[in-house]
Amino acid sequence: METLTLKEILPYLPYSLDVFITKDKIYGELSGIDSDRSIIQIGNNEWFKVHTKDIQPMLKKIKVIEQDDDFWKEFYAEFGGGYKNLTSFKNEWLSSFQNNPPTSFSYDIMQMLFKYHYDVFSLIEKKLAIEKPFVSNLEEGLFYAPYVLMEHTEESLKKHESFMDEYYKKHELCPNCGHKGHTTTLIGYPLIVGEEENYQDKNICVCTNCGDRHITHDRISKEEFLKKQN
Ligand SMILES: [Zn+2]
Repeated sequence: METLTLKEILPYLPYSLDVFITKDKIYGELSGIDSDRSIIQIGNNEWFKVHTKDIQPMLKKIKVIEQDDDFWKEFYAEFGGGYKNLTSFKNEWLSSFQNNPPTSFSYDIMQMLFKYHYDVFSLIEKKLAIEKPFVSNLEEGLFYAPYVLMEHTEESLKKHESFMDEYYKKHELCPNCGHKGHTTTLIGYPLIVGEEENYQDKNICVCTNCGDRHITHDRISKEEFLKKQN
């Protein structure tokens, strides 16, 4: 079986890459590499050292690059000299990205792809990386996925938001001690319209009161906590 190698993950190191630790089924951020071990930070102050073959980076497929406004803004600022405007720059580069493998570009272009967590080495296809949905906006620990938003009507957007409000009320407190304060990883788990009952926010939380570690989905509501008390 193919495994992830250092050369496939090292270029992402400066750019806060989210990774999944396959053995422990938890998420964290790549914060260092020490020979063949990756150092993964979980929450605010917890670090893991795991063999690089036991992690899967969270990467975006090149096909979502068209929607990635933050990428284009920075890419244009860096390399847009000589182009009339962002639109003509984007049109030309977009077709370049769509028609050539990412590894065919010069290193400074590839670096931009690493920075924005694009799958330069086709790791998703090889099942060595997890596909990260494209996200652009962070709001109170929740990422909205534009590919979902674009198909939204005003009404479905309202439904989406009220579902999320409800969801976070149901998962407000530490399941161990009932405390609200916690640190959390910030990975986007987009809500699929029509599959709301399957939604799970699997970000790792650490309770600031008792230190219990759990995923957001396992947090409980005030009612559930009171029931537990009795
Ligand atoms: Zn707690």
